[in-house]
Amino acid sequence: MNVLVTGGAGYIGSVVVARLLEAGHEVTVIDDLSTGHRDAVPDDARFVLERVQHVSDTLGRHSFDGVVHLAASSLVAESITDPQKYETNNVAGTRGLLEALRTAEIPKIVFSSSAAVYGEPERVPIEEDAPTVPLNPYGSSKLSVDRMLDAEAARHGIAAVSLRYFNVAGSYAVLGERHSPETHLIPLTLRAALDSRPATVFGDDYLTPDGTCIRDYIHVVDIADAHLLALDAASPGTWRVFNLGNGEGFSVREVIAAARRVTGLPLAESVTARRAGDPAVLVASSERARKELNWAPKKPRLDEMVDDAWQFLHRGQR
Ligand code: UDP
Repeated sequence: MNVLVTGGAGYIGSVVVARLLEAGHEVTVIDDLSTGHRDAVPDDARFVLERVQHVSDTLGRHSFDGVVHLAASSLVAESITDPQKYETNNVAGTRGLLEALRTAEIPKIVFSSSAAVYGEPERVPIEEDAPTVPLNPYGSSKLSVDRMLDAEAARHGIAAVSLRYFNVAGSYAVLGERHSPETHLIPLTLRAALDSRPATVFGDDYLTPDGTCIRDYIHVVDIADAHLLALDAASPGTWRVFNLGNGEGFSVREVIAAARRVTGLPLAESVTARRAGDPAVLVASSERARKELNWAPKKPRLDEMVDDAWQFLHRGQR
């Protein structure tokens, strides 16, 4: 397949690109490098420095079989202080992309949605038909795009798939998490270990066994591989949605314990206030992806994800 990957210079996007290339696909990346890194795009992919809003020229020049759309703003806290940015980049940006796809007659799209669309779940594990009540503009923007894709499939016949990621972790070869600012638990905890600082725990008064939030961590390569399966499974005129997680939750304290095991360092903890808008427990049911995409995580062990993230951090130190 000839595939366009928006946001292919980012953490997840770059691994999607690497896996597409390994599977023999032709790949073009479009990324404005606002958060991505040019050196994360493998040499075998074509690179176009461009915003999604201006994608039509690129689409006109190549005949793509499908698009994997990951370009987005993705900082929850920023989405609360600057909701307009999320409306512009995530919602309006995707609307423009869909119009361009229609004009260029590109038949399928796989979209990076998020567990953030569910908000505080009524039940865990969370299934795809659970109520969607996002707690912040980031989650709302992902839900708006999901709905847009549903409508686009019904009205214009595109094949659309939304993949709702839970907590993505780990690294793949030289590709890993390089966010600025970094907000995620695993890289922050490993950085704290490296700098001999305590790891920060955002609240230990949640209604969970050890009082800290529980999340479902999923390896970035397992997430990436789901995109390849989704491209194959997408069918014209249909929008399909899949949760991607391991179906197992780990608390913040369990993640910090894994970081101690992996690094061999005596990592202390410092408990601070809860972070606004954090649900106590988010765990996926990925039964639908297992059944309908034939997807199965190959790296479900928390320690392996933490170890891969640790190797990546070390590589950056050299
Ligand atoms: N968290 C924490 N300390 C940190 C960063 C995150 O305790 O330094 C917690 C956060 O409150 C959440 C969990 O770790 O409960 C995972 O947060 P992350 O930002 O990695 O992912 P999110 O669940 O927000 O997508």
